[in-house]
Amino acid sequence: MWRCVSRSLRVPYSKRSVSNDSLRSHISGFFSTDSGEAPYTIVDHTYDAVVVGAGGAGLRAAIGLSEHGFNTACITKLFPTRSHTVAAQGGINAALGNMTEDDWRWHMYDTVKGSDWLGDQDAIQYMCREAPEAVIELENYGLPFSRTEDGKIYQRAFGGQSLDFGKGGQAYRCACAADRTGHALLHTLYGQAMKHNTQFFVEYFALDLLMNGDGSCQGVIALNMEDGTLHRFRAASTILATGGYGRAYFSATSAHTCTGDGNAMVARAGLPLQDLEFVQFHPTGIYGAGCLITEGSRGEGGILRNSEGERFMERYAPTAKDLASRDVVSRSMTMEIREGRGVGPLKDHIYLHLNHLPPEVLKERLPGISETAAIFAGVDVTKEPIPVLPTVHYNMGGIPTNYHGEVVTVRGSDPDSVVPGLMAAGEAACASVHGANRLGANSLLDIVVFGRACANRVAEIHRPGEKQKPLDKDAGEKTVAWLDKIRNSNGSLPTSKIRLNMQRIMQNNAAVFRTQETLEEGCQLIDKAWESFHDVKLKDRTLIWNSDLIETIELENLLINACITMHSAEARKESRGAHAREDFTKRDDENWMKHTLGYWENEKVRLDYRPVHMNTLDDEVESFPPKARVY
Ligand SMILES: Cc1cc2nc3c(=O)[nH]c(=O)nc-3n(C[C@H](O)[C@H](O)[C@H](O)COP(=O)(O)OP(=O)(O)OC[C@H]3O[C@@H](n4cnc5c(N)ncnc54)[C@H](O)[C@@H]3O)c2cc1C
Repeated sequence: MWRCVSRSLRVPYSKRSVSNDSLRSHISGFFSTDSGEAPYTIVDHTYDAVVVGAGGAGLRAAIGLSEHGFNTACITKLFPTRSHTVAAQGGINAALGNMTEDDWRWHMYDTVKGSDWLGDQDAIQYMCREAPEAVIELENYGLPFSRTEDGKIYQRAFGGQSLDFGKGGQAYRCACAADRTGHALLHTLYGQAMKHNTQFFVEYFALDLLMNGDGSCQGVIALNMEDGTLHRFRAASTILATGGYGRAYFSATSAHTCTGDGNAMVARAGLPLQDLEFVQFHPTGIYGAGCLITEGSRGEGGILRNSEGERFMERYAPTAKDLASRDVVSRSMTMEIREGRGVGPLKDHIYLHLNHLPPEVLKERLPGISETAAIFAGVDVTKEPIPVLPTVHYNMGGIPTNYHGEVVTVRGSDPDSVVPGLMAAGEAACASVHGANRLGANSLLDIVVFGRACANRVAEIHRPGEKQKPLDKDAGEKTVAWLDKIRNSNGSLPTSKIRLNMQRIMQNNAAVFRTQETLEEGCQLIDKAWESFHDVKLKDRTLIWNSDLIETIELENLLINACITMHSAEARKESRGAHAREDFTKRDDENWMKHTLGYWENEKVRLDYRPVHMNTLDDEVESFPPKARVY
């Protein structure tokens, strides 16, 4: 129940993040709960736009919104430059043509093929056409790209990239800053965001969307982790840029903070998540540690070898070899290990050789992974191979959007119905430019192109300062009750135990190769893991920096993503991109060239489908009809 006790313009805490905001914020009330403890303080804010997430996608959206004059808040659970984007190594694709002649249509062809024809071709066209401009924009923002002898942006070879619609050999399309591209990109964008008036709410944890009775989104409710106050952000536009959910798995290259919070917020709001069964395994995670060794290492000439010293990729992908698409390389490695040609005492991994490359190349182009290999594998890359294993890396699926970044859902006979007020960009979103499999270096591109697209779309539909509907009086009430319940959970299972169980189920049952048996068992096990969450126990009940509480909310979010992933995978009776079934080995375009939609209803998964967009935006390019995908 709400009890409005003050309409103060004072904001008595966390001056760092809300000081300039005081005219638009007020404590609107306190919320008492069944637990009968001290009530939760609620602070209300009104903005034109609120961005959740300050990784590459969130920052690029926030910059664009502020440039267009929108009064913008950016909420982030991490300090912006700690977002997972900072860890990106290899680079960002764009047909700049700095190394050879290039064309965005060739990039588009590669991306459609890479997606195994599950990508929406209008969105892919949009991304690839915008790419050169997006990279030049980053250069103008000050991103310190690696250079060619004559001063142009250096571009390296990357997996799945070709010239002339697959007929012209390997493309050199991946612009990079050595092997620390994400670091350079994120810091550059943060610097730009500082230049503008974006209001940052750092270490605020977004809990739920504030949905209106008419199905539109009016903002979000977030927890200030520093002092436990709750904040309702009312906004005409809400942009989710919360990243992926790699941590649903046991071994992942993604940060521990990649917990799919935005996805879960959408699912709890009754909206669908799209294509979650498509989980990318990166071929070269360091054996044991899981840290990433960039595909750029193979782009610079690195080679995978089995226990017989054979460069086995020549057998699986005669043309592209080690630079075939990631799903293809991960499966080939898994086959080698299964057939007894793995390396090490347990014959359970593969060697990545860089020791034949000139030391100057390693030093100049791959300094970061040389260091990572030394620290996490104890390997000197100039002398020894790195032990590697396919490791979960990226979520192709996410919140369904159109190419403007607007969230879509199925309403009646319309599969592309826009959810007013709600947008998504980056790894949290599914535009869908990656379809069933993402090509390396297409995600950094996706985040800047669609972050910007969201801002541009808001500018098309709204004006700065536009009047907004008042929030429902009880907006967020359910969320506060839910938060209070979690905070006071007193079952028998610690959060870490349920999480480990979930991670093992996902790793074992929704792996590189899948069968009906593993997936059916996976559905039963993951549903049980969800059930076990009702028996979770928290030790810390405070509201000040309660990491126990935050990790438990993140676990619930991960579980929702995990359940939808497993059920979507079980239902899809074909092999496409990263979803490789041993019992349905072929792609089945007739029955399965469609996006999966997973809803979370009454704590259960319900599936539906929507068509793939095979159309292009205009006649600058024709759509690419499906064909067999060979490298
Ligand atoms: C090790 C590694 C290397 C990679 N290398 C490359 C590469 O070379 N090229 C490439 O194209 N791609 C690469 N990728 C993929 C790419 O980096 C990511 O997909 C991309 O950076 C994701 O950006 P994002 O902005 O969507 O999300 P993130 O960068 O993950 O940011 C998410 C943001 O959301 C915020 N957030 C999340 N939940 C909440 C919440 N509940 N409340 C408030 N805030 C929240 C976080 O604070 C954070 O600011 C790599 C990925 C990894 C893991």
